[in-house]
Amino acid sequence: MAPEGSTARAPSPRPTALTDKIRAYAPHAETSLVDEAYGVAYQAHGTQKRDNGDPYITHPLAVADILAGYRLDVPSICTALLHDTVEDTGITLPQIERQFGGTIAGLVDGVTKLTRLELQSDRTKQAENFRKLVLAMSRDIRVLLVKLADRLHNMRTLGFVTNPARQQRIARETMDIYAPLAARIGMDAMKTELQNRAFAILDPEAYNSIQARLNYLRGQGADVIEEVRQELAKVCRDAGVEVMEVSGREKSAFSIWEKMQRRNIAFEQLSDIMAFRIVVPTREQCYWALGAIHNGFPVIAGRFKDYISTPKSNGYRSLHTGVTLRHPRNQKIEIQIRTPEMHDIADNGVAAHWNYKEGADEPPEEIERYRWVQDLLEILDNSTAPDEFLENTKLELYQDQVFCFSPKGQLIQLPRGATPIDFAYAVHSVVGDTCVGAKVNGRLTPLRYELQNGDQVEIMTARGGTPSPSWERWVVTGKARSRIRRYVAAQQRATTLDQGRAALARMFRQDGLDGSEKVLEQALKQLKCASLDDLYVAVGGGHIGAKDVVHAAYPEMKEAARGPRHLPSMLNRAPAAKAPSRDSAMAVTGLVAGMAIHYAGCCHPLPGDRIVGIVTTGKGVTLHTSDCPTLESFAATPERFIDVDWDYAAARNSAASHTGRISVIAANESASLGNLANAVSRHDGSVTNLKIMNRQQDFMEILVDVDVRDARHLGNVIAGLRAVKGITQVERAQG
Ligand code: MN
Repeated sequence: MAPEGSTARAPSPRPTALTDKIRAYAPHAETSLVDEAYGVAYQAHGTQKRDNGDPYITHPLAVADILAGYRLDVPSICTALLHDTVEDTGITLPQIERQFGGTIAGLVDGVTKLTRLELQSDRTKQAENFRKLVLAMSRDIRVLLVKLADRLHNMRTLGFVTNPARQQRIARETMDIYAPLAARIGMDAMKTELQNRAFAILDPEAYNSIQARLNYLRGQGADVIEEVRQELAKVCRDAGVEVMEVSGREKSAFSIWEKMQRRNIAFEQLSDIMAFRIVVPTREQCYWALGAIHNGFPVIAGRFKDYISTPKSNGYRSLHTGVTLRHPRNQKIEIQIRTPEMHDIADNGVAAHWNYKEGADEPPEEIERYRWVQDLLEILDNSTAPDEFLENTKLELYQDQVFCFSPKGQLIQLPRGATPIDFAYAVHSVVGDTCVGAKVNGRLTPLRYELQNGDQVEIMTARGGTPSPSWERWVVTGKARSRIRRYVAAQQRATTLDQGRAALARMFRQDGLDGSEKVLEQALKQLKCASLDDLYVAVGGGHIGAKDVVHAAYPEMKEAARGPRHLPSMLNRAPAAKAPSRDSAMAVTGLVAGMAIHYAGCCHPLPGDRIVGIVTTGKGVTLHTSDCPTLESFAATPERFIDVDWDYAAARNSAASHTGRISVIAANESASLGNLANAVSRHDGSVTNLKIMNRQQDFMEILVDVDVRDARHLGNVIAGLRAVKGITQVERAQG
């Protein structure tokens, strides 16, 4: 079926050879679906040709045939037939879904996405990441199986590709990415063929010299492999082992080459170019056979490995050993001993878990769609060797990772949940700091978007752009978080510093004293501050009182302050006694610790109101009610918005009051103001400020600031006022 070496023949509209092959291992398989998929692919690829001149349809058919060789299920075979239609023809995914259902459409989609990834440049430089990406994107392992079969067929026909650069690229990619992937999921035969074919293209000289040497050795004696094969079988049978099969083969050119490289030896010295496999019915007999072999031949030290008691992470189980053949051959050979089940898994890897099991009670479709997941997990869980454990840990981690591309094709690995901000910081901290927007797959995307595998991310930056404190809630990488925190901390320090400087200037001015830096510097030591900046920050942060600074700079003021004479004036000048900064009245959640809070003067937000924070560089956060009209003026700068809420838990223990502002329309009578104040106090509030905005003949408009506990309290006050004679309208003030 594979077109390799065969001349193009018109494919029949029904792939009978393929369906026969499937029916041989799955008599009840729904092969009509395979016929249908073939028909669709046949029509869709139409007159397209392969590099070797064959009709294009020979390729998907060959891929399907490879998978049938692994005894895979009908959805996998159909996916193989359809795998290039979405990318290369007019067929769409919805079309496939309508005709073949969600499973096959999902698989085709997965393969198509992997194919698109191939079109990204330079990925082999990041082979390890790319392998992870492919694994992460192959959530259904059948996607990976189809992709590997696709690659295998492309490698088999790579000789026809005329562009040498493209040929090299495909071979390198196969060597670096697909062969290791095949190995990782335990498909040994697939791995060996991929490597060997890639090796032939990448290093033709080495490949040819090894092949020549192998030919020479082959020509030397009779059939060495056959002779050794019989000898091994005899040794085992003489020891009472029930030998099912002994097979021998030359190692592949690439594996010989690899060994030469690893051990730094010349081809002439390399003696074990043959490997033999002994298949016995049971696990016990594996060990009996091992005993017989070790008894019959000199063992090569260090070659024995027991992968039966400790399987490899990909599920591989076998006994390995190496022995030297008796005189006159004296050649070293490698021997693997296993049961038929172990052999199936060794050759077919994950595919062996996923193919039809004849004789199983369940109908093939019911061999549970997700059976392979469990099998794969089992395989992954069952390794014990430390290095394999490490490999496993890495593999499991892939599901926690996303892999995204920069516009130049650089592959960036991020934790799952990462946003474009994480991506920006991963590219470079400056890119992160100045990031103002992102395009994902060419589309403008919010910065809080959760990146998906394979996304191409373009970060837009602006000179002078700065991190927003709100970003901290959207990032998952440590690098991004620490950069944002550092920035916010620096910004806060600057804010606090400004506030401290202003507070000191005010205080010295009030007292009519010189508060110049020169004066302040002299007080630094006494105040235990290292620098003026530190002093400003300490004052701004409330750690040192402004008055204490005055006293440090002018000790005589302190003396004076103790004297009764000055008391009244000092009291006068003291800041309003009842004002423990309102900012600390009630904590707000959703802020970076230590950010300064201001209450917007336009809407006077109260606990219980839905609120929004607006970040102002150098000033901290201003809280508005979420329906405040002022917010419209920030519509163009959504990055300044942060989600905040009152910290009700913290508020329970505090008796803090907040200023609510109401606008009142009352009769222009002298009694009105008194009635108003009485009503407010009856409802447990207190008027802190009152301003008549507009006075007419018969009514007046008054703005009243009322200290209340929260929005509900203010609501009670308003309701109470509405009942007052002479008051015609009461509303919370807006704007
Ligand atoms: Mn293909």
